[in-house]
Amino acid sequence: MVSEIKTLVTFFGATGDLAKRMLYPSVFNLYKKGYLQNNFAIVGTSRQELSTEEYQEMVRQSIQAGITDQDQAEAFIEHFSYNASDVTEAAGYAGLRETIEAAAKKFGVEGNRIFYMSVAPRFFGTIAQYLKSEGLLADKGFNRLMIEKPFGSSYATAEKLQNELENAFEDDQLYRIDHFLGKEMVLNIAPLRFGNPLIANAWNKDYIKNIQVTLAETLGVEERAGYYDTAGALLDMIQNHAMQIVGWLAMEEPASFSDKDIRAAKNAAFSALKIYDEAEVNRYFVRGQYGANGEYAAYNKEPDVPADSKNNTYIAGELQFDMPRWQGVPFYVRSGKRMTTKTTRIDVVFKAGTFAMGAQQEPQETVLSIIVSPEAGIQMSLNAKDVTDTFSTHLINLDWKPTAQEAAETPAPYERMIHDAMDGDGSNFADWHGVATAWKFTDAISDVYAADKAPLEIYPAGSMGPEAADELLAKNGDNWILK
Ligand code: NAD
Repeated sequence: MVSEIKTLVTFFGATGDLAKRMLYPSVFNLYKKGYLQNNFAIVGTSRQELSTEEYQEMVRQSIQAGITDQDQAEAFIEHFSYNASDVTEAAGYAGLRETIEAAAKKFGVEGNRIFYMSVAPRFFGTIAQYLKSEGLLADKGFNRLMIEKPFGSSYATAEKLQNELENAFEDDQLYRIDHFLGKEMVLNIAPLRFGNPLIANAWNKDYIKNIQVTLAETLGVEERAGYYDTAGALLDMIQNHAMQIVGWLAMEEPASFSDKDIRAAKNAAFSALKIYDEAEVNRYFVRGQYGANGEYAAYNKEPDVPADSKNNTYIAGELQFDMPRWQGVPFYVRSGKRMTTKTTRIDVVFKAGTFAMGAQQEPQETVLSIIVSPEAGIQMSLNAKDVTDTFSTHLINLDWKPTAQEAAETPAPYERMIHDAMDGDGSNFADWHGVATAWKFTDAISDVYAADKAPLEIYPAGSMGPEAADELLAKNGDNWILK
C-alpha cells in the first residue's frame, strides 16, 4: 500500500544536467506510483533567468520518455514553480523564500521541506548557511538537506563542509548521496547476508577467504579530465562507492533494521578499518594508468590531460578490518577506466573444504557473486558430484537473474533516494563517520601518490588492469574471480 508523502522539495541547480536527466524523471515516477498526490510542491532555483512557465516546459521535456498520460503529466507539472537567484548572494534568498511559501500555501504543504543541492560542491556549505540565516527552513514538520557528491576532496575539506552544514542542520537532517547505495543489488546485500542463516553463520573469517569488490568501466576519461585528473579512480570510485559497498559487507549484524542501527553497525566496522602507512600503501595498493592499445589513446594523450600526469585511472587494494569477524580476511577493491568490461560486482570467496572424496579432485573454493550492474544477478558456485567419477567433485554454478518485469519495476537509485529522504529513512545514505573514515583511509594513500612514492603501473587500455594487481592477490594465495 502506497501512502502519500506531503512535502515541498527545492532543487538547487534546477537547470543542471543531473536535475534534467535524473531528478525530475525520478520525482515523476514517485508521482505516478502515488507517493506524491496533491499536497506536494517542487520549487526550482538556479542562476538562470526563467519564468515558471519556461521551467515547467523544461520539466515537461525532461520527463517526456516517462509520459503515458498527458493529463497526468500536466497535473504533475502544475506543482512546479521557479525562482532565479545566485546561491552566493544573501539577497537572492528572500525571493526564493517567497516562492517556497507561495507554493507551500497553494498545494497545502505545511512544513516538511527538502532542499536538494544539485550544484557544484563548493556551494553546499554556503547554501546550508543561507537557508538558515535567511529563514527558509520550515517551523513545522521536517527540514532535510540532500547533498550531492563529492563530499569534500580530502578529510580536511570534508570535515570543513560537515562543520558548515552542522552550523545550520543536525546531522540526522543530512542525506549524503552515494547513488551506489540506491542500487538494487547493493540493497540486496543485507537480505542475502542476514536473511539466510546458512550465509549469516558463514559470514566470517572461519568460512570466508576473501571478499572482492570490482567497479570496472570501459570508458576512458572522456571530457572530464579537468576533474578526473585531480581525483583519479581512488577518489572518484574507491573513497565513496567501493567503501560504501564494503560497509554493507563488513558490518556486524545491526540491532534492528532502522537507519540508526544500520549506520551504527557500519560505523563499528569502519572504526576497525586499518589506516596504512607509506610502506603499507605500497604493499597493499597498486595504482595504474591506462596506456595506448590499438584504437585507444594512452590516458596522458587524452584531451586536457597533462603529458606527465601520474593520475591513477586504476586502483586495486586490500582493506583490512581489525575486528574478530574479519581477522586475516582481505577485502579487495579495484576500480579502473578502460577495462575489458563494464561491471560492478561483489565476489565473496569461501574457503575450500578439506574433505577430499575422490582421488581426482579436491573440493574447491566456492564463490557467491552479487552482480550489481549493468544487469543484476546472483551466482553461487558449489562443489557437486562429477558425473564421470564416483565421489569426485567439480564446481557447478547456481545463477539467478531478476525477471524482465522485476528489472522494469526496480526503482532507479535517484528515485529510491528521493523517496527515502521524503520518508525520513537514512539507511541508504552515507553516514558522516563512514565518510570521514573513508577519507582518512584514502588520504593516507593520496599522500603517498602525491609525493610520487609508489610505482605507477601502465596497463593496456581494454585490459583488466596491471599485472601488479594480480600479484597483490597472489601474495595471499588469492586471485581475482573476474579476470
Ligand atoms: P551542471 O553544471 O549541469 O548544473 C549546475 C547547476 O547549478 C545549474 O542549474 C546552474 O545554473 C546552477 N548554478 C551554478 N552556479 C550557480 C550559482 N552561483 N547560483 C545558483 N545556481 C548556480 O551540474 P550537474 O551535472 O547537474 O551536477 C550538479 C551536482 O550533482 C554536482 O555536485 C555534481 O557533482 C553532482 N552529480 C552530477 C551527476 C551528473 O550525472 N550530472 C552525477 C553525480 C553527481
